[in-house]
Amino acid sequence: MEKRPFVTKDQIAQLVKTIPTPFHIYDEKAMRENVRKIKKAFAWNKGYKEYFAVKANPNPYIIKILHEEGCGCDCSSLTELMLSNALDINGREIMFSSNATPAEEYVYAKKIGATINLDDITHIDFLEKCAGIPEVISCRFNPGGTFQITNGIMDNPGDAKYGMTKPQMFEAFKILKEKGVKEFGIHAFLCSNTLTNLYYPLLAKVLFELAVELHTELGVHIGFINLSGGVGIPYRPEDEANDIEKIAEGVHKVYDEVLVPAGMGDVAIYTEMGRFIMGPYGALVTTAIHEKHTHKEYIGCDACAANLMRPAMYGAYHHITVLGKEDAPCDHVYDVTGSLCENNDKFAIDRALPKIDMGDYIYIHDTGAHGYSMGYNYNGRLRSAEVLLQEDGTMKLIRRAETPKDYFATFDFSDILSKMDYNI
Ligand SMILES: *Cc1c(COP(=O)(O)O)cnc(C)c1O
Repeated sequence: MEKRPFVTKDQIAQLVKTIPTPFHIYDEKAMRENVRKIKKAFAWNKGYKEYFAVKANPNPYIIKILHEEGCGCDCSSLTELMLSNALDINGREIMFSSNATPAEEYVYAKKIGATINLDDITHIDFLEKCAGIPEVISCRFNPGGTFQITNGIMDNPGDAKYGMTKPQMFEAFKILKEKGVKEFGIHAFLCSNTLTNLYYPLLAKVLFELAVELHTELGVHIGFINLSGGVGIPYRPEDEANDIEKIAEGVHKVYDEVLVPAGMGDVAIYTEMGRFIMGPYGALVTTAIHEKHTHKEYIGCDACAANLMRPAMYGAYHHITVLGKEDAPCDHVYDVTGSLCENNDKFAIDRALPKIDMGDYIYIHDTGAHGYSMGYNYNGRLRSAEVLLQEDGTMKLIRRAETPKDYFATFDFSDILSKMDYNI
């Protein structure tokens, strides 16, 4: 499908008077509509809840909006837990799906009542020693091998560091039951960024069958099954988008086939989507500040991989629109680059685009999830601002850009700070 920006060149030209590029911008209206659609698709399940994967976009203003639409938080670190708790999202509204978890994070998670999702059987002892075993707990499953969806291999759970083997799941549930756990959950995340309506239903079948076995053999109460994340978005114009209604219907069918006959028709379905919740509803806006004609044609931007790492890290495709040239012919071929001293700092390679002039706004699509949040400070580059396009059409700053002072702040014990010249 053709990809169109959710802002115009005029809107951006207005905005940069107060908030200079680069920045990530988010579309509140579309975010809300998306979550409503997801909730409606899963409404057949009484206990359904989406726990937004905070790592995808840890901005409190974004999380608050998602919470208003009924999302909880899926956290995996201390600061993600703190952020959720500061927004009064806690207790059963937090899923703590961490791995290689430090003790103080379990302590804090338990303190604020988050549902702990154990990544490994050895974490039972670890958790008991540092925080005690709660009455509600979840365990993360890894079936190993490859996870296949009709047309071929989808992903390699056997190579993934997460989760417990099937015998470990049985052993863990047995031990936890003895230690007083009353309600159990099962979680698995087997494939990332899937573009097929079959992923969740196939995963659901694996987890539902496991749940029935665990329930029958050990007599444990399974309260919820967490399908986690992995539902993808169409980064490329030619990609076909997932249909959340079909996905939810597919899960419903397996639920009726596997859980209901086993007398487990009260199990709640949880999801922890990040990318599908936010990905399409954010964009990175940057300005073309250099053009370079050497062995190739380059456009240099005022954003870099520190603001959006996915292309550099995974060779990921992010569609680009030159604002104001939405309908111009794509008769030029460019590498669109950032300023890092790293040759992988390219938002696009050999991309057909309209002719780019200096000062043009380059709109990089689908940065709403795993965009800003993967940012880093390599080369002393600073993280950008974040802006919300509100439902009434007005713009709101929801995170200011980092300044050199922020960058140097961790030397606040040292006299180097007093020598810093901030008059730039
Ligand atoms: C990253 C992550 C998610 C979200 O994944 P998406 O691909 O963004 O949907 C959900 N759950 C866990 C445990 C994760 O690590």
